[in-house]
Amino acid sequence: MSDEVKFAPCPFCRYGEVALSGIEDDAFIHCRDCGARGPDAENNDRDKATLNWNGAALRARHAKAVELVHDLAVMLEASVKLNSAYRFGIPAHANVLDTLVARAALQDRLDAFLSEEDKAT
Ligand SMILES: [Zn+2]
Repeated sequence: MSDEVKFAPCPFCRYGEVALSGIEDDAFIHCRDCGARGPDAENNDRDKATLNWNGAALRARHAKAVELVHDLAVMLEASVKLNSAYRFGIPAHANVLDTLVARAALQDRLDAFLSEEDKAT
């Protein structure tokens, strides 16, 4: 399996370069850019180290996706409230600005996530 299994890109730093390393009898994958390190695999088991890293990377990506979906739902709720405020009168200027700034920041995070997904596949 060793040759055909690729290391998943680092999910913590927008895909820095990852490499296989070892200390004494443990093998592990680490990111050369941010220092993230996958779980150790005993007996210098490189395949296990790769599976450990890839599993951890997948869980981290999943957690990021769940967080984004949650934040999108919060943003949607804020947008609906703002829309209602427009319907029943002029909303406070600060609320509009806060919502627009938060929406732009969320859009940036979403764009970054999706572009990372493109790189990861
Ligand atoms: Zn990294």
